[in-house]
Amino acid sequence: MIEIDGSVGEGGGQILRTSLALSMCTGQPFALTRIRAGRAKPGLMRQHLTCVNAAAEVCGAQVQGSELNSQSLTFKPGPVQAGHYAFSVGTAGSCTLVLQTVWPALMMADAPSHLKLGGGTHNPMAPPFHFLERSYAPLLRKLGANADLVLRRLGFYPAGGGEIEVTISPAKGQLQPFDLNDRGAKLESYAECFAPALPRSVARRELEQLGTGLGWSHGQLREAACRQNEGPGNALLATLVYEHLSEVFTAFGEKGVSAEQVARQLIREVRDYQISTAALGPHLADQWALPLALAVWQRGSAASYTCTALTPHAKTNFEMIERFLPLKFTTASHERHWTVLVQPAALGA
Ligand code: ATP
Repeated sequence: MIEIDGSVGEGGGQILRTSLALSMCTGQPFALTRIRAGRAKPGLMRQHLTCVNAAAEVCGAQVQGSELNSQSLTFKPGPVQAGHYAFSVGTAGSCTLVLQTVWPALMMADAPSHLKLGGGTHNPMAPPFHFLERSYAPLLRKLGANADLVLRRLGFYPAGGGEIEVTISPAKGQLQPFDLNDRGAKLESYAECFAPALPRSVARRELEQLGTGLGWSHGQLREAACRQNEGPGNALLATLVYEHLSEVFTAFGEKGVSAEQVARQLIREVRDYQISTAALGPHLADQWALPLALAVWQRGSAASYTCTALTPHAKTNFEMIERFLPLKFTTASHERHWTVLVQPAALGA
């Protein structure tokens, strides 16, 4: 039983999700205490509880403490079963975080899985659907793990109601780690505004401001089509496509925040990425760690990546991964980027 103190490092929900994912992948049980002690409302919120229940269903785990607001949990995994699953958060909580909890175990399975997920698809503080589709899934594909993602319906806070379908192909024994230290040539960049059930002027103002700030032409600015039954909601996305990866940055509109402020927030994020030479932005830097670690563990050979920033979130995630896998993360800061090396612990000793 691996004992984990949920207050370490960032003390947030990622400690739970990484523990669930790696417990399923390795078969090691864990006991987690002080869940999300670093947050204003600690314990399991609806999204976290959905992650626990989804993980338990996928591997037939024995679980104690899986209740709303619970601050401790024990999880004893059984064998992972590929198959058809439907998981719904039931609120606007992020369903992409639920997906990321079960994705690693299902990609390590020996048969395909089909998932239907319900909840928020574009939430602040979570990977938006388009980030998973364009940034994260293509990198997993390069590792040897294929997945197809379809957005059926957008879901925003507070109404939720979003729907995603995902087919995960089995990659058991096929993962191949690789270094990701530079972006390669820039291929294209474009912006989109998803603003269902809001006046069209909101999307136009956000896109115009973004275009002016980044020097992007009209052809790079797109008002994204939305369905009648979606929203209300507002996500402004910038997608930067390079030879070796794509990055997707997102800013969210909300009541009391002007369209121009939303655009300025996104301009800052894109510029921070553009002035660095690193491959991965700050979010991809923490999310790439787990699938890459699984590949390094399976193959026994090291891999590295560069990133623009190393957030406390990323560092906490590295610590958690080291609790479950015999690996070592080594980081180094340089003038405009960080490097992260993941290697078998025996090599890093
Ligand atoms: P808590 O409420 O405890 O903070 P949480 O479960 O809601 O927990 P975090 O632990 O903060 O969430 O994890 C959020 C995850 O979402 C991180 O992996 C982070 O990189 C990712 N994320 C947040 N914003 C974005 C974004 N704009 N694009 C891509 N990924 C994002």
